[in-house]
Amino acid sequence: MYLNTSRMVIARLTRMNDTTAQTDKLYLAPGHLGCGVRARKSIAKGEVCGYLSGKLIRVQESTSTEGSNSVQVGPDLYVLPKFPVLYINHSCSPNAGLSHDLSLVAIRDIHLDEEIVIDYSTTMFEKHFTMDCLCKEPVCRQVIEDFDLLPEALQQHYIDLGIVQSFISEQYDTRNNHAASGLVKAINAELGIESKYRKKFSFLNRETTPAGDVHIRSQIDSPVNPLR
Ligand SMILES: [Zn+2]
Repeated sequence: MYLNTSRMVIARLTRMNDTTAQTDKLYLAPGHLGCGVRARKSIAKGEVCGYLSGKLIRVQESTSTEGSNSVQVGPDLYVLPKFPVLYINHSCSPNAGLSHDLSLVAIRDIHLDEEIVIDYSTTMFEKHFTMDCLCKEPVCRQVIEDFDLLPEALQQHYIDLGIVQSFISEQYDTRNNHAASGLVKAINAELGIESKYRKKFSFLNRETTPAGDVHIRSQIDSPVNPLR
């Protein structure tokens, strides 16, 4: 996901002639910061154009390279992403986001060949990682940091769009005493929030083939009951 390593990866993929680095909607190509992901066709606002998939890890299980490329899905739970999310750059003015934790969805109409960008802060709630932002958008915040450090109006905007990882939005809602359901609080209390998300995403470790997108789609359509 972060560009210092992505440049090396794009070279390796080119040598290996890795055909998995594209889908019918997205392709790997030069982006605004090294390499990135671009649209192979017009993508309408609200359309799912890819999925976050890959091995689940905890912080202490990752190497520094893996850690800098991982996407947070729980308090101490990360996905080592595959294409396309691995190569998607950050922007403070994103055109896409992760909906239902794993679905890459357009939040406005995206044109053919336009770069897909997300706001990394919608997946960050960990208190030990920041990076300078080079997106150069007029609204650039200069630094990419945790969701709770975003301006409150922007937090609400992203929550309303449904593109904040659920482990964050649930904590956010709990801390602000609104919208957190009694069920969420009961699950967190009974299982502990960490094991809840580990169980929720455990299917990712069983699914490592390109067909994983279909599997993830079925999981999202029929969400895993964390109490089972
Ligand atoms: Zn920025």
